[in-house]
Amino acid sequence: MSGLDPEKTMQFLFSLRSRGVTDARVLAAMEQVDRGLFVKGLFAERAYDDTPLPIACGQTISQPSVVGLMTQALKVRPRDTVLEIGTGSGYQAAILSKLARRVYTVERHKRLVRETGDLFRALGMTNVTAMLSDGSFGLPEQAPFDRIIVTAAAEDPPGPLLAQLKIGGIMVLPVGQSDAVQTLIRVTRTEDGLDYDELLPVRFVPLLEGLGKDEA
Ligand code: SAH
Repeated sequence: MSGLDPEKTMQFLFSLRSRGVTDARVLAAMEQVDRGLFVKGLFAERAYDDTPLPIACGQTISQPSVVGLMTQALKVRPRDTVLEIGTGSGYQAAILSKLARRVYTVERHKRLVRETGDLFRALGMTNVTAMLSDGSFGLPEQAPFDRIIVTAAAEDPPGPLLAQLKIGGIMVLPVGQSDAVQTLIRVTRTEDGLDYDELLPVRFVPLLEGLGKDEA
C-alpha cells in the first residue's frame, strides 16, 4: 500500500488473517490496494480499521475483513471475467481487478460511477469498468460471467444474475431483509442446477430498484 507505513500495513494484514482471510492471493491483492484512496474526507484516517465507513450518496464501503472473506469465497482465477453489483467506493472492484482478467462493476448512483471511474484511471487499473445501471438485471451484454459478487442485500438471489452465471460459475451475495442481519451465501452453477452454501452473517445496504436520484 503505497504511502502507508509498514507497521500499519502489517496490522491491516494481521487483522484480516485473524478474521479468517488466509488465501495468499487475496491477501497479496489487499496489500496492493490502498483502502485510504477509496475513503474520502472525515473518515480517511480510519481507512485501515476493520470497519465499514460512510461514502458518498449515503452508502458504505464494506469492512475489509468482509471484503477479504467474500473475495476468498469467490475463488477468482486469473482468466476470469467478474461482475460486481454495487460499485460503491470501488474498493472491492479494485481488489478483484488484481485477481481477474476483466472486471465489470455496476452501480445505481451516477456520482459513484464517475468518481470510481476517475480513480481507476488515475491508478492505471485498465481491466475494470464502472457502469451506471440497475444491477438487479446483471449486465446481459457482457454475460455470461465466471464469477458474480453482489455487495448489496436482496431477499433472494436475483434471477437474471443466476442466469448470467456460466456452468461452474460462482456467485457470492448477502441475502435477507435489509434492516436485519443477513446471510452471506455462495451459489455454484453446476451441470444440473445450483448448489447453495451459507457462509457467515453480514450486514449490507439494500439492493434497490432503478437508478439513484443523483445530486450531481
Ligand atoms: N462494493 C462497495 C460497497 C458497496 S455498498 C465497495 O467496495 O465500496 C453497496 C452499493 O450498492 C451502493 O453503492 C449502492 O448504491 C449499490 N446498489 C444498491 N442497489 C443497486 C442496484 N440495484 N444496482 C446497482 N447498484 C446498487
